[in-house]
Amino acid sequence: AKAAGRDRYALFDPGMYADILREADDRAELEQALANDEFAVHYQPIVDLPTSRLIGVEALVRWEHPVRGLVGPNAFIPLAESTGLIVPLGRWVLRQACEQLAQWCAEFPNAERIRMNVNLSARQFQHEGLVEEVGQIIAETGINPHQVVLEITESLLMHDTDSTIETLGRLKRLGVRLAIDDFGTGYSSLSYLKRFPVDILKIDRSFVDGIDTEHGDATLAEAVVQLGRALQLQTVAEGIETQEQWSTLQGLGCEFGQGYLFAKPGAAEAISTILGDARPD
Ligand code: C2E
Ligand code: CA
Ligand code: CA
Ligand code: CA
Repeated sequence: AKAAGRDRYALFDPGMYADILREADDRAELEQALANDEFAVHYQPIVDLPTSRLIGVEALVRWEHPVRGLVGPNAFIPLAESTGLIVPLGRWVLRQACEQLAQWCAEFPNAERIRMNVNLSARQFQHEGLVEEVGQIIAETGINPHQVVLEITESLLMHDTDSTIETLGRLKRLGVRLAIDDFGTGYSSLSYLKRFPVDILKIDRSFVDGIDTEHGDATLAEAVVQLGRALQLQTVAEGIETQEQWSTLQGLGCEFGQGYLFAKPGAAEAISTILGDARPD
C-alpha cells in the first residue's frame, strides 16, 4: 500500500508531469520534422591510413531545424531512442545513404570500391522488421550489399545473446558487413568478439585523443589493433585530428581512419568531388 501511495504521488508530481508533457512535445516535434523532411545526412570520409585514400564514408544524421539551424545528432538521437522514433528515422537514414551510394556508383566508377557505414541503434536492432527492411532497402536501391557496413555498439552485444546472434547472422546473410562502434568504451568481456560475426572494430575517439600524450591510451589503441589482427578484423580509428595521431596509428598497424584531419562530415557534394577527382587505377 505504501508503494502504491508513492506511485500515486509520483503520478501527480507536477515536475514529473511537466517532464512527460515536454517529452511528448519533443517527440511530436521530431515526428513533425521527419514528416517535413527536415533531416539531412552528412558524410564523413573514412580513409586508408598509409595513403589517405578514400575507402568509405560514414553517414551521420543532422536536423536542419527551421529556427535553430543545423542541429547535431547528440541533441536529438537520445530522445529519438527513448521515444522509439529512431526506428523510422534510422530507416530513413539508411535509405537515404543507400540511395546516395547508388547515385555515386552510377556517376563514378571509383564509387564501387567505397563502403557506406550507417549507425544502427539498439532500439532499431531490437525492432522486429529490421532485417527485412535492410534487405528491402538494399534491393530497392540496387546497391551491392558488400558495400554496406552497419555500425553497432558493444552494449548491444551484451544482452539477449541468442536473438542477438540470430539477428546478426541474418544481417550477415544479406551480405552486409558489421562494425563495432566506439570499441573499447563498453565492456571488459571480449568473449562476444568470438561469438558474433563482426568484421570491423572502430577504435573510439577517446583513445585516439590521448594517443601521443597519455601512455595508457597508446597502449590500449595498440591492444585493440593487435586484437583486431588476431581475430582477422579490420580496424578503423575514429577522431584523428593531428598528424602525430595519424602517424602513431599507422605505426601501430591500424588500417583505416577517420577524423577532422582528413575531413569533417559534410554534404554529399564534397564526397562527389573526391570521387570525381580520384584517378582510376
Ligand atoms: P559516432 O557514430 O561515434 O560518430 C562519430 C562522431 O564523431 C560524429 O559526430 C563525427 O562528426 C565525430 N567526429 C569525427 N571525426 C572527429 C574528430 O576528428 N574530432 C571530433 N571531435 N569529432 C569527430 P556526430 O555527427 O555529432 O554524431 C554523434 C553521434 O550521433 C554518433 O557518434 C552516433 O552515435 C550518433 N548518430 C549520428 N548519426 C546517426 C544515425 O543516423 N543513427 C544513429 N542511431 N545514431 C547516429
Ligand atoms: Ca558510428
Ligand atoms: Ca564511433
Ligand atoms: Ca563515439
